[in-house]
Amino acid sequence: MTDPNAKPKYFKVFGSLQRIMSDRPLYYLSCPECKKKVMEDRDVVKCENCNKVFNEPNCSYNFTVRISDSLTGTLYATVLGDESGSEIMGMPAKDLRQIREAEGVP
Ligand SMILES: [Zn+2]
Repeated sequence: MTDPNAKPKYFKVFGSLQRIMSDRPLYYLSCPECKKKVMEDRDVVKCENCNKVFNEPNCSYNFTVRISDSLTGTLYATVLGDESGSEIMGMPAKDLRQIREAEGVP
């Protein structure tokens, strides 16, 4: 059973990043107003929550990386948000999306 009072635990991992798991998109689009995940509908995005349509959604990283360290071997970590994602990818999610769209990759 999950303890409802459990506090999140933070770990520092020193290891090397082996691989970015790319079996799903590396980023997701969210509503600029309520930050909920939105779906793309041709050139615009639609927020079901706000019931509004936006041309420029927020774009945030959400992907999994495989890390190896000398003690535990291989572990997987989720990179969430633009701050840490940009550090790994070298650009904000918004820019990556533009490049991928220009190349016709979803
Ligand atoms: Zn919204």
